[in-house]
Amino acid sequence: MVHASLRRLRVAIVGGSMAGLFTGLALRKKLNCDVAIYERSAGKMESRGAGIVLQPELLRFLEQFAKPISVITVPSIERQYLGRGSTSRHRYAASQLFASWDGLYRLLRDLFPAECYHQGAKVKGVRQDGDGVEVRLETGETRQADLLVFADGLGSRGRRQFFPELLPVYAGYVAWRGTVPEALFDSDILELLTDRFSLCQIPQSHMLCYGIPGADGSTAPGTRRLNWVWYWNVEPGQPLCRLLTGSDGVERSYSVPPGLVPADTVAGQQAIGRDRLPPALAALVDATPTPSVQGIFDVAVPRMVFGRCCLVGDAAFTVRPHTASGTSKAAVDANTLALALFKAQGDVDAALQAWEPRQLALGRRIAAWGKDIGNRSQFPHDPASFAILSA
Ligand SMILES: Cc1cc2nc3c(=O)[nH]c(=O)nc-3n(C[C@H](O)[C@H](O)[C@H](O)COP(=O)(O)OP(=O)(O)OC[C@H]3O[C@@H](n4cnc5c(N)ncnc54)[C@H](O)[C@@H]3O)c2cc1C
Repeated sequence: MVHASLRRLRVAIVGGSMAGLFTGLALRKKLNCDVAIYERSAGKMESRGAGIVLQPELLRFLEQFAKPISVITVPSIERQYLGRGSTSRHRYAASQLFASWDGLYRLLRDLFPAECYHQGAKVKGVRQDGDGVEVRLETGETRQADLLVFADGLGSRGRRQFFPELLPVYAGYVAWRGTVPEALFDSDILELLTDRFSLCQIPQSHMLCYGIPGADGSTAPGTRRLNWVWYWNVEPGQPLCRLLTGSDGVERSYSVPPGLVPADTVAGQQAIGRDRLPPALAALVDATPTPSVQGIFDVAVPRMVFGRCCLVGDAAFTVRPHTASGTSKAAVDANTLALALFKAQGDVDAALQAWEPRQLALGRRIAAWGKDIGNRSQFPHDPASFAILSA
């Protein structure tokens, strides 16, 4: 419900991925804000992501919009740990829901007015004074806002502006990721992996797999995809730079998208998989012609608010993926921001001051938890190895 005395706030959001859309939707829903989202990518966003484990906070966010979540999710009923011969060494009841990044993105986009979502709109500069913020796009166009939200991810321009010294810290490993149609696999593999969240720990590496909807959003058995993530240690410096250089010759800072990882690099990783992974998981890697590689980086800001600007989602805290909570954290950032503005009757400064401390605490908590899981899974339990990686 919108408070009668609230003036319609103008909000500009940099970044139109999960955190940007959550924030735009929450601010429109709770306060009827006049929201504009600026997303630099001009192309299809749907091809970007892979699987998302849905956490309760994200489900609660989506419930506000009365969308039946079953249309974009695949459930699992058990969690299992696989041994070398694809045997299930431990298995226990654990219900979870999984979505694809593309399906969730489509759902959020359908809820957000198309005319307020500007694609191919890269934000180049931001200026603020006591009255508000001016956003400048690459095209030279400007827009005035009462509040500016940076939802621009790991490489956030907002964070660079406010904390030029704070750089993402490489965690010492990457995530190889892929999705494969389940129809490609024989019944042995499907029987083992379907309806389950499967994990496997091998020396200094781990891999997981779960079902997600098909590329067209279908959730019917036989039309879905298997999503896998394989965490693999790569030395910082030259080895990482080489891996993050695509077949187009461009060296990327954080990730190489599907289709641009050089074929010989893919083949090399597949060969390692055949040697070391349980055969069922190696088969997934083998059946993925265009996996992506995502470097795992840590980012934690000391502040999320700067005058009339704030940081949400990965822009503020890029947490390790092992807690599967980056998306739900972004949804909580968005919901609590809307609530703070509502409680402060639209007073942006008061709302931001009230909002920041709890979100900082949440980000720090999840970041520490994710680091702990990741480091224990990827590295020997020797403090010296962490010192080398963070040097
Ligand atoms: C391997 C892996 C597995 C994961 N699994 C899960 C999971 O199971 N569950 C979960 O909850 N989370 C998971 N996550 C985390 C999750 O993907 C993110 O935390 C979440 O999507 C929030 O992203 P974001 O919107 O903050 O940032 P991003 O998705 O990075 O979006 C930032 C957006 O800003 C745009 N942008 C950047 N600069 C500009 C600019 N100057 N102008 C305009 N636009 C700009 C970019 O193009 C981009 O669209 C995983 C992450 C990884 C790496």
